[in-house]
Amino acid sequence: MFRLLSAVAHQRVPAATDLEMLNSELVEASGHLRLILAPGGGDAEDVGVTGFPARPRFDWEWSGLGDSLTSLLWPVARATAELLSSRQKSQLRECAGDSCEWLFLDLSKNASRRWCDMSACGNRAKAKRYRARKTEGNSAPPAAG
Ligand SMILES: [Zn+2]
Repeated sequence: MFRLLSAVAHQRVPAATDLEMLNSELVEASGHLRLILAPGGGDAEDVGVTGFPARPRFDWEWSGLGDSLTSLLWPVARATAELLSSRQKSQLRECAGDSCEWLFLDLSKNASRRWCDMSACGNRAKAKRYRARKTEGNSAPPAAG
């Protein structure tokens, strides 16, 4: 899933084998997905003449979620597929941090976010640039006069 999302973040075509792996996880996950009536049944303003919700509300529910370690992948696989099949995939980015591979959605107004977290990777990059400038400054010949 990371390789698929990373490829999309870098505007590359993902490997067919990675898509195949996600699809087989989706097949497994789909067998455990149920549509249920949401608790409360419907929106408060949407009450019919009988006092019951005119249009009941439904939710997705995973049956057997948490029964096995692999079941924890089901919602992740589904969320990955939903993101990849949505318009929001164009906002997917990978952190520009040196040793960071976090993925995030760039929801900034000018689509210029580079870091997973400014207080972590952003500050490290700023400090690195600062040290580089300082080193350059120290190696420069002393000014004449
Ligand atoms: Zn990062």
